[in-house]
Amino acid sequence: MLGAGVRDTDPPTLFDKIISGEIPAAIVKQDDKMMAFKDINPAGPAHVLIIPKDRNGLTRLGKASVEHKEILGHLMVTAAEISNDKSLGFGDGARIVVNDGPDGGQEVMHLHVHVIGGRAMQWPPG
Ligand code: IMP
Repeated sequence: MLGAGVRDTDPPTLFDKIISGEIPAAIVKQDDKMMAFKDINPAGPAHVLIIPKDRNGLTRLGKASVEHKEILGHLMVTAAEISNDKSLGFGDGARIVVNDGPDGGQEVMHLHVHVIGGRAMQWPPG
């Protein structure tokens, strides 16, 4: 039996194991559609990843189509809520980013939104 959001053409990811509880994570927020947890290798004083629980083909943002509008909107609203949460270490604003594919620096092929903050970010990124 396949896990949540895993199409038989998409191999299970590390993040599927976090959703199932097989791999522990510091979960900061979740509902039936998404999970937000602390990045294990934070790029700033505050670094949260937000993932869809039902990946539904979204290994990467570049695979998005009109059927994903609702979940993508939900992930972005959640990113806003998390970036405003001072208890997580965020200040005034955050770097909210999606790495898409090899050239975008994506390592885990399960769409995720990075919310990084607690310090002033530089531009352009590396
Ligand atoms: P990507 O490069 O955009 O794919 O980002 C993957 C992120 O997942 C990196 O920032 C990693 O530090 C993070 N990561 C990898 N394994 C774990 C884990 O087990 N728990 C939490 N974050 C992880």
